[in-house]
Amino acid sequence: MSLIKRPIIIDTLADYRRHGMNIWANCAVPTCSHGARLDLEDLIRRFGEAYEPVGGGAIEKAVVCRRCGSRGATLTISHGHATTSVGARREKGGAN
Ligand SMILES: [Zn+2]
Repeated sequence: MSLIKRPIIIDTLADYRRHGMNIWANCAVPTCSHGARLDLEDLIRRFGEAYEPVGGGAIEKAVVCRRCGSRGATLTISHGHATTSVGARREKGGAN
């Protein structure tokens, strides 16, 4: 029955997209720590829908900071709906 609660499992990049999750990257250089939201569609193109970002390590290594040019970042996960009104959509393709 529908009364059974199921945990929402978010492992792969496809899950992140389905549930409206955002992945943020923060520069690994402490004096910079520039942060930016990563483009999920771009990540899926590069790593595939089945890639699991948490513990995978590949995204962290691939990120290059736009401010200082260093490679390497810390990832943070956020839920898009937490900061977006119901029915509203974020502008797509912004230069950030
Ligand atoms: Zn940086």
